[in-house]
Amino acid sequence: EHVVDVLGVRFHRVTSNEAVESILHWISEKSRRMVITAGPEFVMQAKENPEMMRISRSADLVTADGVGVVWAAARMGRPVPERVTGVDLGLDIFAEAMRRHTSLRVYLLGASPESLQACMATLQQRFPLHQFQGHHGYYQNQDWPQILKEIESFQPHLWLVGLGQPRQEMLIYKNLAHLPPCVALGIGGSIDVWGG
Ligand code: UDP
Repeated sequence: EHVVDVLGVRFHRVTSNEAVESILHWISEKSRRMVITAGPEFVMQAKENPEMMRISRSADLVTADGVGVVWAAARMGRPVPERVTGVDLGLDIFAEAMRRHTSLRVYLLGASPESLQACMATLQQRFPLHQFQGHHGYYQNQDWPQILKEIESFQPHLWLVGLGQPRQEMLIYKNLAHLPPCVALGIGGSIDVWGG
């Protein structure tokens, strides 16, 4: 079996290369998918929060983002091959798509306006084949319909949401069906990291 259940959260026992492969495959077939990178904090929160647990179980791919999860899986005799973080997964997808001469539209949602600008400039320079667009993560609720429209018209292949867990997963879960098919991934503080 390719999953391991850690306190109710079902982790996929994939390497980062395999995760990238699945995601690029989903993009190529234009399917609508949700990916979660979950560490021990996610597991502990999901244990207390049925909504989060339900979302994690509806995800198409859940990677082990933390040594605690890697350790727990190994203890259960069902090891995950490696830790797969959002920061690394995002960059690996950009790089592998470039290697395949596949141009991606990437929509980034999250972080402060300054951090998002810095991140987009860095990514655009490093991955010139891809198109990056985004919105910062400090908007008012009333602005959300407009942001959703913007994402919709951009038609991203990849929708990266960095609002922190579990908010980013809940937002993806609620909105993914209203967008053109894309692969959505919660990335936590990656926008700050990629820009810095
Ligand atoms: N953030 C945001 N809007 C908010 C609160 C947080 O965009 O209202 C961003 C914050 O700027 C940071 C990210 O969400 O870039 C959260 O990063 P963190 O590392 O705390 O998330 P985790 O990886 O722990 O889920």
